[in-house]
Amino acid sequence: MTGKAFLVDTTKCNGCRACQVACKQWNNLPAEKTSFFGGPEYTNPAKLSAITFNHVKFFPVDRKNPGGPIWEMMHLKCNHCEEANCMRVCPQSAISKMDGWVVIDQSKCIGCGACESECVYQVPHVLDKTRQMYGLKKSIQGEKSYKCDACTANRRSVPACAANCPTGALAYGDRDLLLKKAKAVMNQMRGKYPRISLYGETQFSGLRVITVLKDTPEKYGLPLKPKTVNVEKAEAVRDAYQLLSLATFGLPSLKRVAYRISRSMMG
Ligand code: SF4
Ligand code: SF4
Ligand code: SF4
Repeated sequence: MTGKAFLVDTTKCNGCRACQVACKQWNNLPAEKTSFFGGPEYTNPAKLSAITFNHVKFFPVDRKNPGGPIWEMMHLKCNHCEEANCMRVCPQSAISKMDGWVVIDQSKCIGCGACESECVYQVPHVLDKTRQMYGLKKSIQGEKSYKCDACTANRRSVPACAANCPTGALAYGDRDLLLKKAKAVMNQMRGKYPRISLYGETQFSGLRVITVLKDTPEKYGLPLKPKTVNVEKAEAVRDAYQLLSLATFGLPSLKRVAYRISRSMMG
């Protein structure tokens, strides 16, 4: 796997959320309604959504530390998997690769939610029908799926999140070089973090977000061997959908029904 990638170095992340804010700004996305403890510890908003393409998760590590509670923090977004489950199951072929990045073409999307349910990292989200009026310059429509596109739509040379990280915890560049850098960081920090680990080198034949974790992937909720979709079944569902969708008059609501029937027919 060659080309560009991100490197997330959790040993350097201070949880400032500049990446989160820069992503909102460059993608012209509205804020979420949040509460102080929206997610685990200080994670806020609670998770990725159709209007939050990257966020910072806080993990509780030691709340009883005498010097004050200790947390781990990690920047999260679409991993842009080489063998992407979302792409394999989309019945509309609305998901494709652009220079290696996994992107969604909302003009083809019918909001069936297949990508949402098959992404093991819970990344893409179909925007609720009632949440389409934000007064944005760029139209964000209900019943369409959204996620990070690595700023391909923004045509940035360096994606906004990486360009605005003040600590160097989020880098962007050639994947091969970033992998070497990640391994050097691990060697350097192993004394301080004996269980330091790397995530993204092999999962789904390689992710375009490589993460250096201070502890094991399981501690961060990342599966070491994530489940790949059954390709034969996914193709059978798509074939059935192609036939059924001929009778849907191009209406997304009927297409969603056709998709549900196709999926139930194939078990
Ligand atoms: S992380 Fe999820 S949404 Fe992103 S490419 Fe992989 S399967 Fe698709
Ligand atoms: S919601 Fe359905 S049609 Fe839209 S991108 Fe996801 S899988 Fe494809
Ligand atoms: S901008 Fe950098 S340091 Fe700040 S939360 Fe994001 S990854 Fe961490």
